[in-house]
Amino acid sequence: MELKNCFNDFVHLLFPRLCAACNSTLYANEEVLCTNCMFHLPFTDFHLDANNETARQLWGKIEFESAFSMLHLAKSSWVETLLHKLKYKNQPEIGVYLGKLYAKRIGEFISGIDLIVPIPVHKAKLRKRGYNQAAQFAIGLSDGFNIPCNEQLLLRHILSVSQIEKSRTERYDNVKGEFSLHSKVNVKDKHILLVDDVLTTGATICEAGQLLIENGAKISIATIARA
Ligand SMILES: [Zn+2]
Repeated sequence: MELKNCFNDFVHLLFPRLCAACNSTLYANEEVLCTNCMFHLPFTDFHLDANNETARQLWGKIEFESAFSMLHLAKSSWVETLLHKLKYKNQPEIGVYLGKLYAKRIGEFISGIDLIVPIPVHKAKLRKRGYNQAAQFAIGLSDGFNIPCNEQLLLRHILSVSQIEKSRTERYDNVKGEFSLHSKVNVKDKHILLVDDVLTTGATICEAGQLLIENGAKISIATIARA
């Protein structure tokens, strides 16, 4: 064990781990963000306000229990850099880290969630990127809340009839537009926390959410940020 720690220290000396926001060298006890950046994360605390901006953006578009975003997102801010690295720079650990941090912050306010489900990316994108950024956030939340996460529940299509047909043969059905639902998972009467990285128009979340609702679930919505 001690030898392993020595080895890790040695590796960190050769390849210092850097803060994903400010690029300063991380101390051994720091993960992803340095203490200073972590301290300055612009939390929205939307979970405390049912009429928050994220909820208001979705009102009238879909029925939900609650909706909130973790961080304020300003143009050209370091939160934007962080989200860019999560999505495009092969740093999935940023999503897991933020999910765990958020779960710690809002844990006692969240109750009754049965399952956490990330908005999926197309298979082609997944192959190219290697991971789904929303799923990384969902994994962190799942770990922090101790609520299961199902990354396979929803399947996303590039809209073409042939692909929707193909997905039917792959044990998915209930194809609705861009998404289909894994036919072996029963979501009836489940309260699902639908998770994405950034809320933009809300159209994607609404389409996926509607499919879950039509299959008997009720939903809440959580995103890292809101554009
Ligand atoms: Zn930093």
